[in-house]
Amino acid sequence: MKSKIYITRKLPDYIIKKYEEKYEITMWNQAETPVPRDVLLKEVADADALFSTLSEEINDELFEVGKNLKVVSNLAVGFDNIDLKAAHKYGVPVTNTPDVLTETTADLTFALLMATARRLIEGSKCIEENKWENWAPFMLAGTDVHHKTIGIVGMGRIGEAVAKRAKGFNMNIIYHNRSRKADFEIAVEADYYDFDELIEEADFVVSLLPLTNETKEKFNKAVFKKMKNSAIFINVSRGGVVNEGDLYNALVSEEIRAAGLDVFADEPIQNDHPLVSLDNVVALPHIGSASVETREKMINLCFDNIDAVLSGKKPLTEI
Ligand code: NAP
Repeated sequence: MKSKIYITRKLPDYIIKKYEEKYEITMWNQAETPVPRDVLLKEVADADALFSTLSEEINDELFEVGKNLKVVSNLAVGFDNIDLKAAHKYGVPVTNTPDVLTETTADLTFALLMATARRLIEGSKCIEENKWENWAPFMLAGTDVHHKTIGIVGMGRIGEAVAKRAKGFNMNIIYHNRSRKADFEIAVEADYYDFDELIEEADFVVSLLPLTNETKEKFNKAVFKKMKNSAIFINVSRGGVVNEGDLYNALVSEEIRAAGLDVFADEPIQNDHPLVSLDNVVALPHIGSASVETREKMINLCFDNIDAVLSGKKPLTEI
């Protein structure tokens, strides 16, 4: 009998068909909408492997029902949707998708930084709304990126890839982690800073931190207050690392200049979200790793992890 893999979103047939010969594959029937919890719990009851996304909470309740589960393969590098203690308790390995999305997410981070600094979305809207009447010396004047200081908080895989891009723009690179990276500091001429020093010094504060108990709402009122009034805050990590009310107040009271956000505390957000009402916010719907090439690589890595475990081997990228 074939082992059953349950996939929580509809994936394209051209990807699935590679695995159908070997496995019984059952999928939620929609690509855009998450699987309802009751359907998920019913499906995992006899599944050998769960292919999940960041929309599903993987917790005690799920492992209690999914008695046959041998692996959970999550389509993301971040794993704040997964209770690892519960997975450990039930002896189920959990995998993620590091590395394959690093460069793509760094591209998006830099694109968002530039769009926010140079007011690209406002410029585009200006033409769409037929408001471009004349040239004016300071019309939609933004702020320079080149030769400014970028402060990367969370200098991991994606942070390093962003730093390399920043170097190409002749930016001064400073970073904060819990641990220093001596070789990397030399390679890109980056300087290690304490968190408080970094947020005071940086023109662009870029969050690439995982969401953990330690990083929850790390960017809050006190932190925004310490940033330069001209600072631009970029978040491509998880919305939960920011207190969104404090960010809104900091933007409205001009404590900081602007923000570029790919992630929000409670996703998906709608256009009535307070941050979206501000002209100096560029908001994106969590598309950091969303290129076709990278999404295919992420999906294949999820399957490779499942295939390894179900074949009695070690997973490739266990968390
Ligand atoms: P990573 O390689 O694990 O990097 C995370 C970095 O954060 C590490 O260098 C770590 O260094 C640092 N860090 C962790 N906890 C910290 C703390 N409390 N204080 C200071 N630094 C801390 O992960 P990655 O692959 O670069 O991904 C980073 C995050 O980006 C993911 O967790 C995910 O949430 C997010 N992400 C978002 C998207 C998107 O679509 N928007 C796409 C991919 C990833 P130390 O351990 O030395 O502190």
